[in-house]
Amino acid sequence: KKYVYLFEEGNAKMKALLGGKGANLAEMTNIGLPVPPGLTVSTDACRTYYENGKRINDEIISQIHEGLNVIEEKTGKKFGDRTNPLLVSVRSGAAFSMPGMMDTILNLGLNDKTVMAVGEKTENLRFAYDSYRRFIQMFSDVVLDIPKFRFEAVLDKYKDRNGYENDTQLTVVDLKDIVDEYKSIVKKETGKEFAQDPNEQLIESINAVFRSWNNARAIAYRNLYDIPHNLGTAVNVQSMVFGNMGEDSGTGVAFTRNPATGEKKLYGEFLMDAQGEDVVAGIRTPKSIDELKEIMPEIYEQFDTITKNLETHYKDMQDIEFTIEQGKLYILQTRNGKRTINASLKVAVDMALEGLLTEDEAVLRIDPKQLDQLLHPTFDGATMEMATPIAKGLPASPGAATGKVYFTADDAVKAAASGEKVILVRKETSPEDIEGMNISQGILTSRGGMTSHAAVVARGMGKCCVAGCETVKVDEELKIFAVGDIRILEGEYISLDGSTGKIYKGSIKTVEPTLSGDFAKLMIWADSKRVLGVRTNADTPKDAETAISFGAEGIGLCRTEHMFFEENRIPVVREMILSDNKNQRQKALDKLLPMQKSDFKGLFSVMKGKPVTIRLLDPPLHEFLPTDEQDIVKLADEMQMAVNDIKEVIHSLQEFNPMLGHRGCRLAITYPEIAQMQAQAIIEAAIEVIEEENTTIIPEIMIPLVGIKAELDYVKKIVVDTVEKIMAEKGKKIDYLVGTMIEVPRAAVIADEIAKDADFFSFGTNDLTQMTFGFSRDDAGKFISEYREKEVLTEDPFQSVDVEGVGKLVDMAVKLGRETKPELKMGICGEHGGDPKSIEFFHKIGLDYISCSPFRVPIARLAAAQSAL
Ligand code: ADP
Ligand code: MG
Ligand code: MG
Repeated sequence: KKYVYLFEEGNAKMKALLGGKGANLAEMTNIGLPVPPGLTVSTDACRTYYENGKRINDEIISQIHEGLNVIEEKTGKKFGDRTNPLLVSVRSGAAFSMPGMMDTILNLGLNDKTVMAVGEKTENLRFAYDSYRRFIQMFSDVVLDIPKFRFEAVLDKYKDRNGYENDTQLTVVDLKDIVDEYKSIVKKETGKEFAQDPNEQLIESINAVFRSWNNARAIAYRNLYDIPHNLGTAVNVQSMVFGNMGEDSGTGVAFTRNPATGEKKLYGEFLMDAQGEDVVAGIRTPKSIDELKEIMPEIYEQFDTITKNLETHYKDMQDIEFTIEQGKLYILQTRNGKRTINASLKVAVDMALEGLLTEDEAVLRIDPKQLDQLLHPTFDGATMEMATPIAKGLPASPGAATGKVYFTADDAVKAAASGEKVILVRKETSPEDIEGMNISQGILTSRGGMTSHAAVVARGMGKCCVAGCETVKVDEELKIFAVGDIRILEGEYISLDGSTGKIYKGSIKTVEPTLSGDFAKLMIWADSKRVLGVRTNADTPKDAETAISFGAEGIGLCRTEHMFFEENRIPVVREMILSDNKNQRQKALDKLLPMQKSDFKGLFSVMKGKPVTIRLLDPPLHEFLPTDEQDIVKLADEMQMAVNDIKEVIHSLQEFNPMLGHRGCRLAITYPEIAQMQAQAIIEAAIEVIEEENTTIIPEIMIPLVGIKAELDYVKKIVVDTVEKIMAEKGKKIDYLVGTMIEVPRAAVIADEIAKDADFFSFGTNDLTQMTFGFSRDDAGKFISEYREKEVLTEDPFQSVDVEGVGKLVDMAVKLGRETKPELKMGICGEHGGDPKSIEFFHKIGLDYISCSPFRVPIARLAAAQSAL
């Protein structure tokens, strides 16, 4: 079996077998670039190594020697030779780049004899010993596990003693002594002499690279990025070229475009008389690549041409490592360069305009998830640099926020009303805090995880949130929080970074997100490719406006209950809920009607004729009830009821399983007046806006939580009767739709029946996931992470739709629904509407649109386009 490939035997497509570095070295060799000859020991050999109980078998070893013979012929040097020795580097390289995981060994093949030979042959003893000391240090670090600092301390000692500033000032004599000291460190640490046999050095090094595939750091990294553990790494053995041979030699790295901004200009750094990691290690300050033009104009020209060719060849921005040996250029690595999202967008758009990429390819280049960074306010770079964090919590919802601290939703609302920028700090939040959260710049909680109330609601609002910051001690009564010795009082400024979870004292300037320039252009291209419509989940005109500016084509879900939480409404809502007779309830509803109507008018007006789906009241009623003694007393007073009677009603509304309790269409069946009021508000609002603004509006009224066909029939009749009555009264007829959510598994199963009387379906995948798994959304956080660790689940089904189960139900319901009504419009409005992986699935099963929170609209547009390509 073939385990070893010469560079000329491979190509860029063989990444799985040769690793990224090896495959690209092979590709560059074959397109004729100056790459020092070498070979790659495959990932297959690594897997075999593990199968053989961590031993490199003889077959592999003999193939390595065969390959080495070819390299010897090409270079005219011999491994271990006493007059003209071949030196090699041993470089790890897995299929996925794993930065800093496994270190490279340079100058392998040096020993007490060959170092002399190198010195004589090059007439440069200093260079020979400089290479030797580097080799001993790297080999000891990677193979023998002796920490680098042991060696660095010796180096520093010599520099200090002689008053040198740079390594380059070390003399031959110094370096010889340093080598001796290095060897004695090895002897002391291992009890053995430093390995003198080059073959032993080589096999030991390859062994160490294979071994390092499973070191703790590597495993942790793979876990973090979901890279499988059984891939193994390849090892490249490459003949050395030397950047440390004096002032006509050097080494460096360059990007074909600026990785921070994407600007089309060679960007990089180099050092003369240096080797390997010197440039990144910060031993000396590297020079900008522009200076190479002056120092070595011909080399610069040659390099510039090569980088351009590489970019054209790979059709992507390249990150290139090079070395110059005595005025001759070598290329040692190329790969697609890592870049910021801003650079990603600019590079993709520029390359499409340059004709290097097609528009489709440009659209496919951008990771939709990365766009998230651009859709929230960010801290201004300059002010940010001067700030030091005081604590760190969970990065629950991205964005940057600065404002004055308030500890209750009420205080926050009052402060915001008087024009202050506010940060709400709570131990944890509850539905009563929604209004306070909504007017805040950001939210900080000391308890709760990534799926806590604060985190979920903040993400929905696109609002910055740092959650579960345990080091923050919040005292909501004294209105103060403390982190160690630092105390922050109400009204003091803090700043939150929701992308990192860091908390800062004082205010930091923020910059608002906009969709412009390259971002906007790429989104236009994306829109021309996608089939799925993209709507938004929005409850207020402000959210709707944001969503439209991000390109939303309608509202897929307006949650009417969010309008109920506003400060002046909640008492009326409570009156409605606590009424013990229909008359009293009607009185409360009469007060709510104009409020709801004005909400809907606001929405219709902003949406300018784009579709708006409004869901009838959905959550369990007790969510609206007061818990505070004070509030209860006040309410009793307003309703002219005894405090104890109110408490009794509150008690009677308590449920064991509210999410499976009295909610959704069940509310409309027990209290038809509520659905009537909402239907009336919707239709009157639509009629008025149509008249006032001379547009067309086709309101889509959505009935939640239907599981039984008769539930739909019952509620639909209430809605239709109300709407028809209003239209008759007003003498105005408009089109409207009455549809339902498919979020109870039973509804998915009988979707063909339900479709008979539904004008549209909207899949509520949050509830559908909850009920299909039987996982309570509010409690699952406690065990889902452990499920993932133990690989019981590979993904959180609330984040990415469970294709196998929940997805199958959705797919089935789509098919059943269309059997009854081929033109039935279908969308999805759960959290999954903003998740690229889920979007791909929804595209595949033929939904008409997805709906997501305003700040995810661009992500959804791009993901939808990519699904279609
Ligand atoms: P990493 O994966 O950490 O970038 P590399 O294998 O690319 O590690 O090696 C790091 C550096 O070592 C390279 O950038 C290059 O400067 C130097 N290097 C590696 N192999 C050789 C070689 N054959 N000749 C000269 N320098 C080399
Ligand atoms: Mg490298
Ligand atoms: Mg629901």
